[in-house]
Amino acid sequence: MIEVRQLQKSFGSLDVLKKITFAVKPGEVVAVIGPSGSGKSTMLRSLVHLEEVTGGSIYIHGKPLIENGKYAGNADIREITATMGMVFQHFNLFPHLSVRGNLELAPRTLKRGNPQEIAAKSKELLSKVGLADKADVYPSMLSGGQKQRVAIARALMLNPDILLFDEPTSALDPELTGEVLRVIRQLAEENMTMIIVTHEMSFARDVADRVFFMDNGEIAESGTPEQIFGSPRLERTRTFLNQD
Ligand code: ADP
Ligand code: MG
Repeated sequence: MIEVRQLQKSFGSLDVLKKITFAVKPGEVVAVIGPSGSGKSTMLRSLVHLEEVTGGSIYIHGKPLIENGKYAGNADIREITATMGMVFQHFNLFPHLSVRGNLELAPRTLKRGNPQEIAAKSKELLSKVGLADKADVYPSMLSGGQKQRVAIARALMLNPDILLFDEPTSALDPELTGEVLRVIRQLAEENMTMIIVTHEMSFARDVADRVFFMDNGEIAESGTPEQIFGSPRLERTRTFLNQD
């Protein structure tokens, strides 16, 4: 579903991704953990072309977004990245649009179905995340947990088959994380392919098929949750896990 080879990214003289290689299978849930500044967000953003990398290859469904450092054409990039949805730490909802407006903007702009179909889909997805009664409300009226559930519903509007989450609960008060994690867990049960950058270790342990420990621009260690949390191979993984 996702294949990344020798992915490289530098900001000036700073090497943020140092030849990262990994693959994600259909239906797999990968949790990415690691210290702040290790390159987790940059890796995720590179997959959806929010960040231009400096070298390597990314294949989504076997199609190259970038191959040996050379990007595909714009039309191909749009087509490939449209199969992925992304959810950010700070929700990134449009404040001037209602909840429904937030969900319907992209499919309307991209003409994915007629207005009735799009409205039916947004209704269905708001029910799915437990916010059927919030369709006409503006984001400023919602709690952080509700905003993030709207963001997840919005990410699902274009029927992505890959969802990427960048610390989806880090901006939330602790009592609001559960409602968001429940929605993500449900998506995992429905076999959505997901990469989740998270600081919620018990959630990662619980929901992930595999865990990547990123450190200093590399996937330093990867394995099953049992391996990574139970018997980490590297000293730096142990140190990271013990500080929480
Ligand atoms: P993480 O998500 O693991 O905290 P990031 O991917 O956000 O890490 O950042 C990795 C490194 O890249 C950090 O050192 C960060 O300061 C640097 N970085 C990220 N974005 C930029 C940018 N736009 N310009 C310069 N440096 C950046
Ligand atoms: Mg980050």
